[in-house]
Amino acid sequence: MSKQYEQEIRRRRTFAIISHPDAGKTTLTEKLLLYGGAIQLAGTVKGKKTQRAAVSDWMEIEKQRGISVTSSVMQFNYDGYCINILDTPGHQDFSEDTYRTLMAADSAVMVIDAAKGVERQTEKLFKVCLLRDIPIFTFINKMDRESLNPFDLLDDIEQKLGIRTYPMNWPIGSGRDFKGVYNRENREILSYGDEAGSALGGQHKLQTVKATLGDPGLDGLIGAAQHQTLADDIELLDGASYDFDLEAIRHAKLSPVFFGSALTNFGVEPFLQDFLRLTTPPLPRRSDAGEIDPMDDDFSAFVFKIQANMNKAHRDRIAFMRICSGRFEKNMEVLHVQQDRKLRLSQPQQILASEREIIEEAYAGDIIGVFDPGVFSIGDTLCAPGKKFRFEGIPTFAPEHFCLVRQVDTMKRKQFIKGTTQIANEGAIQIFQELGGGMEEVVVGVVGVLQFEVFEYRLKNEYNVDVHMQRMPHQFIRWIENEDLDPNTLSLTSDTKKVQDVRGGRLLLFTNSWSIQWALDHNEGLALSEFGKAK
Ligand code: GDP
Repeated sequence: MSKQYEQEIRRRRTFAIISHPDAGKTTLTEKLLLYGGAIQLAGTVKGKKTQRAAVSDWMEIEKQRGISVTSSVMQFNYDGYCINILDTPGHQDFSEDTYRTLMAADSAVMVIDAAKGVERQTEKLFKVCLLRDIPIFTFINKMDRESLNPFDLLDDIEQKLGIRTYPMNWPIGSGRDFKGVYNRENREILSYGDEAGSALGGQHKLQTVKATLGDPGLDGLIGAAQHQTLADDIELLDGASYDFDLEAIRHAKLSPVFFGSALTNFGVEPFLQDFLRLTTPPLPRRSDAGEIDPMDDDFSAFVFKIQANMNKAHRDRIAFMRICSGRFEKNMEVLHVQQDRKLRLSQPQQILASEREIIEEAYAGDIIGVFDPGVFSIGDTLCAPGKKFRFEGIPTFAPEHFCLVRQVDTMKRKQFIKGTTQIANEGAIQIFQELGGGMEEVVVGVVGVLQFEVFEYRLKNEYNVDVHMQRMPHQFIRWIENEDLDPNTLSLTSDTKKVQDVRGGRLLLFTNSWSIQWALDHNEGLALSEFGKAK
């Protein structure tokens, strides 16, 4: 591989930002783009109105824009690095896409609201990160508001998520008294003066003043009382916190923690700098032919997301893929391994800030979207002709909401089956049938309830099928791992439902976690899994 390729790949950093809605993911993303010079004024990445719009508006937007409202990738340069941020949908009801997006990242940044600590969706997303063992960096946001005690916040992360923490910096006060952060590595204080909440509103990069603990001038900068509290906190921290351990960070055993305020930019740039230093360039990926090195001369990629255009006239779709090795060139010929056929990747796109543009080349670590005439499925591998291997598949994530669905007009059975199957193939929903049953009535499972509406809307608009949907009380799904077990012999609570997925996998739907335990207690040897077999 040429030196230039190698350099391009080495400078890439590809990560996802995860958080509970409203913790500040969008704001932080904007600020990172601001520091990267990708936008001049923060607040222009995407109108929050767009995101918060009512469901029907949101679908209208999806229709017009085709892609990137719900989830996209943003690329920018900073300090010699080429950064790919994988954005995950910001809705309360995220979909399986959010999970899958994490499959394409090399690390994750977890944004936590300093006043709330770890919230439910963060916990769920965190679990998926652990599944892939990807490093997790924590940004504790909104320090410009009254926050929980920083020690308690660390404790909360460790207790709820079961990961050790290492504060990289320490907040000086919170709320109105938030004065800056103390960097534990170089023992320097970055003070932000009185800019908090100023007319600038955090739209511009911040100026900072540097000082060290004990500096006589520090009392004037942050106040004598805060100076003393900081000195005490640091002493406590140095004695009590875990040691910095890069290996542990790389294996998701230790999370570096940063305090800041995305809105006012406090602590954003120091976070970015340290994060880029600690996270890795594109990592090798497992395949059935062993690990594939990103520096490999040959191009390879896998599809992790398919976005339907929702345009009734053209049912075109965009397949998003993560490049795992080598270099991609526009119109290059690749082997689509699962279909065993060669194809040209046409109209490769990349999304920069809010626009999509056609790209000429891309490297390992980058994400590209290509026009999909209906040939791609989630998890597909693309590689150079002459090579043939498959990347490890993407697991099916457990839906948490279920509906019993049947078509209103039984004459439209064909369209119903076609639409339902296609939408399921895109990965927006999962479909299940009664054990041994047909497709007259299916159980649709989704990760976020918004997908039910998307599903109903699309069936009507794209397939001209009206459906009757009935919510089910079930919330938990478990795949039965014992291959030779007949589910009908299981002893289960009466509200537990037995179903099968499209690949014949057998599953149980539970209404509460207590029934799961009941099933395990009353059926010796029963093995249940939270994730379906990889596609
Ligand atoms: P997301 O849902 O995680 O993408 O959260 P947003 O970035 O949209 O932020 C949610 C709300 O919190 C918005 O009103 C933001 O202006 C606000 N917000 C974000 N970061 C901060 C912060 O550091 N301080 C304060 N006070 N508000 C913030």
